[in-house]
Amino acid sequence: MVSGPGGVGKGTLVDRLVADDPSLWLSRSWTTRPRRPGEDEDAYCFVDRDAFMAKMRSHGFLEWASFLGNLYGTPIPAPPPGIDVVLEIELQGAAQVCRAEPGAVVIMVVAPSAEIQAQRLQARGDEERQIIRRLEVGAQEQADGMVLADHVVVNDDLNRAVAELADIVGWHRSGGSAPGIGQ
Ligand code: 5GP
Repeated sequence: MVSGPGGVGKGTLVDRLVADDPSLWLSRSWTTRPRRPGEDEDAYCFVDRDAFMAKMRSHGFLEWASFLGNLYGTPIPAPPPGIDVVLEIELQGAAQVCRAEPGAVVIMVVAPSAEIQAQRLQARGDEERQIIRRLEVGAQEQADGMVLADHVVVNDDLNRAVAELADIVGWHRSGGSAPGIGQ
């Protein structure tokens, strides 16, 4: 799982990680959040609350959470055999998955600074009010994430951070034997 506050660049990192490694499979979440202007139609399965609740009632989610007034959920994954699943989710959901899947790994991504995080939120077109809320919630998420996470990656440089994520994946696949990675 890749988690962390909004505006730290998780989505871009995860897209790059998965594009570079055919044995990783990125789950597509469901959300009741409206699509942002310019946001990819495939970014989520965008649904209304009724559809989300119906899937929840039929036990169709591995985890789900309410975040800033919207619902987000991971459909029960069905990857091809031998493929590792990547989830880009917030911390309440990550904690649920950790309880259900003891072998799950949480990687927390953080921005190099609060200023850069705010700039990234502005650049993707979030409303000012939303940005302030996301930064407030994000500060708490970062603190909680430090407790839950197995690894913390600073997204200071895209290529470097993607390489670090790939090293972490490799480290866990090898049973934790590669040098230089860990906490
Ligand atoms: P955003 O609205 O910025 O796309 O996402 C808000 C937060 O929800 C982000 O932290 C994102 O990682 C998280 N998120 C996206 N999909 C899921 C999901 O399926 N489950 C949970 N618990 N969180 C998700």
